[in-house]
Amino acid sequence: MCARQDLGDPVALVQLNGDLRHAHSELQSAQRAAQRLQARFTVDEIARHAEPEMLSTAQATATGLHQYFSSIPRLAQSSNSVRSMEGPELDENQVLDAIADISAYMCEQREKYYAIGEPLEAQHTSIMANFFSPSLLARIRVVQLAKHGLGRIKIERKANSYHHLLELTHMASVTFEDVVVFNEELTTRSLFHALVHAVQFQLLGLPRYTELFIRAFVATRWRFNVPLEAHAFELESRFAADRRQTFVVENEVRLWIDRGRY
Ligand SMILES: [Zn+2]
Repeated sequence: MCARQDLGDPVALVQLNGDLRHAHSELQSAQRAAQRLQARFTVDEIARHAEPEMLSTAQATATGLHQYFSSIPRLAQSSNSVRSMEGPELDENQVLDAIADISAYMCEQREKYYAIGEPLEAQHTSIMANFFSPSLLARIRVVQLAKHGLGRIKIERKANSYHHLLELTHMASVTFEDVVVFNEELTTRSLFHALVHAVQFQLLGLPRYTELFIRAFVATRWRFNVPLEAHAFELESRFAADRRQTFVVENEVRLWIDRGRY
C-alpha cells in the first residue's frame, strides 16, 4: 500500500478517481471473460472438470473483490455539494448559451487583466523555460489580486443557472488565455499549473477550450473530473515531484488533443 495522501489535495483526488476508473475497466474485462465461460459451460461442468486450484483461486478473487466493493458505502446522490457542484440540468441550447456567454466573459476578463498584468519575473522564467516555450513565457502576464487590493475574482455577469460552472473563487488562480490571475499567493507550483492552462488555450483556442471545459463539466459535475483540469493537475504533480525531470508541456497537451482526451 502506498503512503497516505492528503485528500484535500486535488492531485490525490484525481489519482483516486483515475485508479477507480482503471479498476472498473479491469473488472469489466473480467466480467466479459466470466460471461464467455458462462455461455459455454454449465456450473456443474465447471465444478466437475475445472482444475481445482484455478477454480478456487478465481472464486477467492471474486469473493474478495465483492467484499471490498460492497464495504464502500454507496454515495448518496450529490451528497458532497462542495466537490460536486449543484445546478439544474442544462439542455443543448443552454449549453450553447453557456459556451457563448462564458467565452465572451473570458475575453473581457483577459482584456481587463492584461492591462494591469506584469511579465513573469526572471526567476520564474528560468525555472519554467525547462517546460514551456520562450515565446509563450514572453507573452504571459501575471496579476496578483492581493497586491492590487482587488480581493478575489467575482463573476459580475447576470445570474445565470450555469455560473457555478466557473467556480472561480475557489481556485488558486484563473488563466484567461495568456493572462494568469492569482486569487492566492503565487507559488512556483501554482504558476506551473496556470501555465499548463495557457498552453491549452494556445493550442485549442479560447472558444474550443471553453466548449470542452463546459461540456465535460456538465457531464461530470465536478471540476476535477474535467480532463483539461485533470491533465493540468497531473502535469503539475509531475513538476512538483521532481522538477529536474523536465518535459515539454506543449507536447503533452498536443498528445491529449490528438487522442481526443479533452
Ligand atoms: Zn486549473
